[in-house]
Amino acid sequence: MAAIKHRRTALERVEKFLSDTYFTDCNLRGRLFGDRCPPASLSCFQTPRRIPYQEAVAQQFGPAQVGESFGPTWETCWFKVELSIPPAWAGREVHFVWESDGEGMVWRDAQPVQGLTKEGEKTSYILTRSLKESEPHSLTLYVELACNGLFGAGKGSMIAPPDPDRRVTLSKAELVVFNRDVYELLVDLEILLDMAQLLGEENQRSFQALYTANQMVNVCDVTDPSTFPAARDLAAAIFSQRNGESQHTIHAMGHCHIDSAWLWPYEETIRKCARSWVTVVHLMEHNPELTFACSQAQQFQWVQSCYPGLYARIRHLAAKGQFIPVGGTWVEMDGNLPSGESMVRQFLQGQRFFQEQFGRICTEFWLPDTFGYSAQLPQLMRGSGIRRFLTQKLSWNLVNSFPHHTFFWEGIDGSQVLTHFPPGDSYGMQGRVAEVLKTVKNNKDKGRVNHSAFLFGFGDGGGGPTQKMLDRMKRMRDTDGLPRVQISTPDQLFSVLEKESSQLCTWVGELFLELHNGTYTTQAQIKKGNRECERILHDVEVLSSLAVAQDSAFQYPASQLQQLWRLLLLNQFHDVLPGSCIQLVVEDALQYYTEIRRAGAQLQQEAVQCLCRDLLQPQACSTHSTLVLNTLAWERTEVIASPGPDGAETLALVTVPSMGYALVQEPFVPPQPVAVRKQEDGSITMENGVIAVCLDTMGRLTSLQLLDSGRESVPDGCYANQFALFDDVPLYWDAWDVMDYHLQTRKPVTTLLQPLEITLAGGLRGSVSFSLQVGKSSTLTQEIILDATCPYLRFLTQVEWKEAHKFLKVEFPVQVRSTNATYEIQFGHLQRPTHWNTSWDWARFEVWAHKWLDLSEHGFGVALLNDCKYGASAHRNVLSLSLLRAPKSPDATADIGHHQFTYAVMPHQGSFQEAGVIQQAYNLNFPLHVVPASRAQCPAWSAFSVSSPAVVLEAVKQAEDRPEAVVVRLYEAHGSTVTAWLQTPLPVKEAMLCDLLERPLAQGRLPLEQQGLRLSFTPFRVLSVLLVWSH
Ligand SMILES: [Zn+2]
Repeated sequence: MAAIKHRRTALERVEKFLSDTYFTDCNLRGRLFGDRCPPASLSCFQTPRRIPYQEAVAQQFGPAQVGESFGPTWETCWFKVELSIPPAWAGREVHFVWESDGEGMVWRDAQPVQGLTKEGEKTSYILTRSLKESEPHSLTLYVELACNGLFGAGKGSMIAPPDPDRRVTLSKAELVVFNRDVYELLVDLEILLDMAQLLGEENQRSFQALYTANQMVNVCDVTDPSTFPAARDLAAAIFSQRNGESQHTIHAMGHCHIDSAWLWPYEETIRKCARSWVTVVHLMEHNPELTFACSQAQQFQWVQSCYPGLYARIRHLAAKGQFIPVGGTWVEMDGNLPSGESMVRQFLQGQRFFQEQFGRICTEFWLPDTFGYSAQLPQLMRGSGIRRFLTQKLSWNLVNSFPHHTFFWEGIDGSQVLTHFPPGDSYGMQGRVAEVLKTVKNNKDKGRVNHSAFLFGFGDGGGGPTQKMLDRMKRMRDTDGLPRVQISTPDQLFSVLEKESSQLCTWVGELFLELHNGTYTTQAQIKKGNRECERILHDVEVLSSLAVAQDSAFQYPASQLQQLWRLLLLNQFHDVLPGSCIQLVVEDALQYYTEIRRAGAQLQQEAVQCLCRDLLQPQACSTHSTLVLNTLAWERTEVIASPGPDGAETLALVTVPSMGYALVQEPFVPPQPVAVRKQEDGSITMENGVIAVCLDTMGRLTSLQLLDSGRESVPDGCYANQFALFDDVPLYWDAWDVMDYHLQTRKPVTTLLQPLEITLAGGLRGSVSFSLQVGKSSTLTQEIILDATCPYLRFLTQVEWKEAHKFLKVEFPVQVRSTNATYEIQFGHLQRPTHWNTSWDWARFEVWAHKWLDLSEHGFGVALLNDCKYGASAHRNVLSLSLLRAPKSPDATADIGHHQFTYAVMPHQGSFQEAGVIQQAYNLNFPLHVVPASRAQCPAWSAFSVSSPAVVLEAVKQAEDRPEAVVVRLYEAHGSTVTAWLQTPLPVKEAMLCDLLERPLAQGRLPLEQQGLRLSFTPFRVLSVLLVWSH
């Protein structure tokens, strides 16, 4: 009988046939499951700890029932489930169905076999596909149930702080007969219905799909499975109608984004990895075509140590090319805040792990979920064996739509990587018709390339792919009217994109995310821990390397350093360092920093003891002197404070050679002492022969002069070092977002608690201090310090912070006119506009920087330096440093408490390069080390120096697996082409250039010349030099 052309009734008829809400008594969905049977017995044991299987099963289990609830949050229930399959079910497919709002893991014969999470659409564990007489009908399973959901336990909303008293309910635990023929028909009909609805009335395929589905319902008698094959044949006929040659190809890859910590602690992530990955492994057994792209070496290492059996299966599937390690980094780190050297270590630790465990390094960098991407990443990828990059987060831009999905991304040094954003704008696809259509429709590079990535599987909290996703895509392999969907791999996708790349566009500079800009500031203690621990590991590596060079008997602490680096790298995960995690995670992260500080101090002491043994050992005619060590590669003249014999601090002006040490002998008299004077109106002036400042009673600068030129930095009538408080209420993502409108709520902080007074009268150091009330109940105390010879004024700041949804900044209006400000990034710097001309300009109202930012016009500028801050902005002539936020989700206690940080202002003549702003910012971040010594005299000693101020020697470390060699990493910091000599008195036998993975470069051998090693740099080029010791 001809179909009546009533689109709506036909569509809804099919919908109702599939509905799990309506007409389940007579529709197809109602037939999905057959007979049911409860478990023979169910018992449980509860623990607050996450314990191994063997320990769990040895416990006393008490009775448990379906319908009961368990908790509170973060507890674990272990269930013992005894099952007895009715013999009448012979020949049937039997599932163990488990429904709970907690995350479950099924254990069978002491091995994890399947994750069960309702939110991840996994509620069935398949016991048998066809029950045989010979199969055991009775068996025991254990289910490990975490009392948290896929997205933690937020109270009221996903990102709210966890509800400590959440309970999870066991709503179903039973054996069921699964009717696979019904399931297959349901999937057929879902796809046809989606085609009918989504292809649109202008497309004849829409009607073909609709009438086929309608006809299938006609043919199907839900009570008589013998009618099903005819219905399936109708579907198969339409699915097998092929596309033309030009159709777009979608490369589908299984994926499971697992945040290494976010709304749950690190420890739970280990179990999330196991639950998600064991499910993938299980799926692969029945779907040999399934591929799965999996990132983060740290997560592999967790599973290796906690689930060795599962890990062995993963390695086997990786060898077959199905389970595909990607990314090359230790974790999916934040893309903005880690230092250049930290980013190198993300790749070094990651790629070495992948090489060791899987026999190859990753060829794609994989960072789908990070809040912006540094313009230095392309060079770091290329240096780590990677030419391809996949992400998608820029689809979250609030203001501007990023113009590409496939393009070449070019970094500040000119390095390029082929970059792809899955055009469906998600890394958690489900294999639906709507998603494959969006992938094509949304693709901004249509006509340039004809291939796209499609990452399917539940993500963020884990979960991963399901059988249903695969079954949907099987039907869309090559069906006229839909893009071709093939199961693929990252390598296959990028290989075809490389072939098609001749028409692609190039994007130069950073990939700035126009959202989540509060993450440069939130959780200030994590930011501070990161900066400080980067410095500690730098210093330990430098001093230990020098100790080995001086005394080959010294044991370089390679394995401790690896362990400490891995802790630091883990904390750089893209919800930890940005501060977008719950309080439990913050506590873990701060604990890791404490561990690095403690172990780092110990290692540093051991290295200094070895390096300077003769100076430190008590001598017959011992005198008290002071040893000063400099871990930076330029000579420094600075005021140090050393504890004197009576415990009081003594100041001294010292000059310490480049990456070396000196003994302080005669106090060194400054060319001009610091003068501090109080004026009649309560204001105070300070000057040191380099700069002169005038501060009002609230600690604000009314004048900041460069004495050489008499140039004034503070505009008439303005105040620099002005604190300002803003309302900070975003639209949803509390810890993440600061919105443009916060700028309209600016309130200068002007409530004085303690007026400005002199705390150090001058000489080698002058200082003043004052206190302010900030907001309703916070206080700020600042000591402003000027040292002899120092080109900057330092602000040592203490804040007792008790705010809610407020943002504290400090502002420096300066007498400089420029349309661009400069910000330090990894191994270099970049410029961003100071105006708001276009939407691309004003969307960057809050940006990030590392140790400094600078606003310069020709011949003069002012730089703002800091020791642990990242958020900043420069609008017109006002430089602002973002200090503290007070979001309440997902951590209600975020940033409440005591803070200490330092920033500094440095006016300068010439460009910031000529003025040495870069070096001064390093000096502020890497204080000289002061150690009591017992010798009166010793010549100053320098291990390394570099002939050009444009080149920064960033790191010295022992080469991986080569105790007889070190790696010295340098970069060009001015943005210039330059040749520099690396000089060292150390016994070098051989020198060669290597990549960031420390593999020697072809033709990289460097001749050892009289002047040292000759190194050629182009702008922002990073070079690594392998030096082999001759002893
Ligand atoms: Zn994420």
